[in-house]
Amino acid sequence: MRQRISGYHQDELGDWVAELACGHQQHVRHQPPWFNRPWAATEAGRRAYLGMPLDCPYCDREGPRVQPPRPNRWGRVLEHVRNMQLDGFWALCLGVLLTVVTVGLSLLPFLVQVLWVAARTRCRVGAAPVAAVFGVCLTDNQVGAEYARRLERGLALLEAGEVEYLLLLGGVTGDAARSEAEAGRALLQARGVAGDRIFTEDLSRHTLENLRNARELARDRGWPELVLVSSRYHLARVGLTARGLSLSYRLCAAESRLRLTPGLIGCGLREAFYLQWYWCGKLWSVLTRNHKSLERIS
Ligand SMILES: [Zn+2]
Repeated sequence: MRQRISGYHQDELGDWVAELACGHQQHVRHQPPWFNRPWAATEAGRRAYLGMPLDCPYCDREGPRVQPPRPNRWGRVLEHVRNMQLDGFWALCLGVLLTVVTVGLSLLPFLVQVLWVAARTRCRVGAAPVAAVFGVCLTDNQVGAEYARRLERGLALLEAGEVEYLLLLGGVTGDAARSEAEAGRALLQARGVAGDRIFTEDLSRHTLENLRNARELARDRGWPELVLVSSRYHLARVGLTARGLSLSYRLCAAESRLRLTPGLIGCGLREAFYLQWYWCGKLWSVLTRNHKSLERIS
């Protein structure tokens, strides 16, 4: 089971030990060729890996030692703002300002892009090793209609032999007591999919984290390319973020075709705002010559 790094300390020999969110600990040595973790050797590297998932063999054997406390709604909002970091916040301000000053017109080209990708993406992909399915917030701890459509698409790819494995992305979000990935796995197994065909990544809470963790997993497993399955309105953001992360990917739409509904325009506008925010973030980091935040999204 993969667990987030929550801190570090040195043992009596001066070797670095990562403290994991599950309450377990693990040495993070950089001793090539046996342990290749150049990041563990420097202060900056260790800081950058805070919050990143690490395989925890103890959890696999005995389960987590501690359950992280669940923050309440306001706690989650605060946590979100903290995670966003200052540059993300300024980029958000820039995005809001731009939208207000142009009375929303600045969103128009992004909305066109969202709808273009939504309409053009196919739902068959050809052969690929793995399809990554993006989770959706659970309703009453259960998979909702939208998430079910994404899972159905993944299942169809698997049954058609287009992909060998499914990778379910999505951590614990909202008030749910289990992760989106776990709920998805339960649904697919109930539909007869063998457990060893399903991988789960349940530490991420949004598209950027989903894709960053998927990239890690793809590297670990030697998957050269990912098929990214999501709802049509979400695909433009998925593609943009994946490109930023230099992922090899193909998009795959959950719904067999685009349906124009009032709900789609609402989602489309939200997605357009996300795309604008992304570009504002890039612009902000170039303007402030901040390479750290550029690295975060690339
Ligand atoms: Zn553990």
